[in-house]
Amino acid sequence: MELLDLSMSEILTKLNNKEVTSVELVKLCQKRIEETKDLNALISTCFDTALEQAKIIDSKRAKGEKVGELAGVPMVIKDNINILGTKTTCASKFLSNYTSIYTATCVKKLLDAGVVVIGKANMDEFAMGSSNENSAFGPVKNPIDKTRVPGGSSGGSVCSVASKQCFASLGTETGGSVREPASFCGVVGLKPTYGRVSRYGVVAFASSLDQVGPVTRTVEDNARILSVIAGKDEMDMTSANVAVPNYLANINKGVKGIKIGVAKQFFSDKLDGEVRSKLDDAIAWYQANGAQIVDVDLPSIDAALAVYYVLSSAEAASNLARFDGIRYGVRADKYDDIIDLYFKSRTQGFGKEVKRRIMLGNYVLSSGYYDAFYRKAKRVQKVIKHEFIEAFKHCDVLLSPTTSTTAFKLGEKSNDPVAMYLSDVFTVPINIAGVPSLSIPCGVDKQGLPVGMQIIGAHFEEAKIYQVAAAFEKHNTKGEK
Ligand code: GLN
Repeated sequence: MELLDLSMSEILTKLNNKEVTSVELVKLCQKRIEETKDLNALISTCFDTALEQAKIIDSKRAKGEKVGELAGVPMVIKDNINILGTKTTCASKFLSNYTSIYTATCVKKLLDAGVVVIGKANMDEFAMGSSNENSAFGPVKNPIDKTRVPGGSSGGSVCSVASKQCFASLGTETGGSVREPASFCGVVGLKPTYGRVSRYGVVAFASSLDQVGPVTRTVEDNARILSVIAGKDEMDMTSANVAVPNYLANINKGVKGIKIGVAKQFFSDKLDGEVRSKLDDAIAWYQANGAQIVDVDLPSIDAALAVYYVLSSAEAASNLARFDGIRYGVRADKYDDIIDLYFKSRTQGFGKEVKRRIMLGNYVLSSGYYDAFYRKAKRVQKVIKHEFIEAFKHCDVLLSPTTSTTAFKLGEKSNDPVAMYLSDVFTVPINIAGVPSLSIPCGVDKQGLPVGMQIIGAHFEEAKIYQVAAAFEKHNTKGEK
């Protein structure tokens, strides 16, 4: 087995045993990135600084000095997360020349733990999309079938982990952007509880929903990264003052006595037959291994998609108002007056989908429509959140498909925004409720495309999710990565 085929946890053991150096790993990743360039997973790379950092870590290790818990691990970061001195483009023409003037808290924590950042990942522009086709830098391809999308918006982050260009990456979620691509590419992706991870330094899409999430090849790796990035941050008032537990403590405890909730609303006729049968197999496996399956009801989640597109677009319209051609990024060369400067810069800088969201958002916030759309959506959000809280009184976790189908073809949905939005039908209810959810691989369909299953927890119950996920992973992969 090659080094790049190992999980992050296995590679950490090898690093700590001095069987491999971080410099060697960075070079191996660089080679793999060059060999798989056609996937278009990364917008920029930073091998020179990565090698410098790797050298420092290697020499500390060699001298027996204390190093961080992820010391020497090469990682990729989504390009809407700021790292001082590197480009942060959000895959937008608007920011194609923007260089970060500070580092996001989540990245700072990773760097303090010894992670070596090797590149910034491609994504849908400003994280709006489900296929990674809305990138000003071109679409990302699914490494399992290059004629298909990797999912989005964290398609580059996920593709880089699935194609073994790195050992782990960070993505971001607003409505499914880590879990949907993780499901399409057969890797593990977490949407943490809202407030679990600091958003400081992450370019805002919809601030009341945005969260940073780890993408990895194993459940254990995911837990290790969350342990590092989670926690209260003085720089983000929405980060929660809730203690960070040891996410690895119960990871091998199995599922005996665990109550797994199944809601019929996640198993509607929107679900593809092959995906359903994989999920049925997983439910049967859990039952056979000591878990108790309970029926729960989430009657309002059908409304979640509509709620999501009202709320996320409203917030996006206000957050993106700062891109005015004055303070950041692109500025039109020729303009008549200040209004014309705003108008031309925004017309030239933003792509089609981003413009669609800004128009949608301003519409639902405009006077006369605010009550009918924005306020109503906020009310329905409360109902949905309440239904999840009720459901968790009867079970420890909920189990559902991550997506209703496996990865679709490039171009298949790019001219039909509603069809594209429907790819998130099973992921957005979780963001609307603010609860955590992990997507893990659950077999493949007849074409060999990965099926994803999500394990959803109550607020701040990520440890329970990891426990339930790890048990299935052990069975599903039978020792493979
Ligand atoms: N696909 C959804 C959207 O386009 C979710 C995006 C996300 O989670 N960032 O808004």
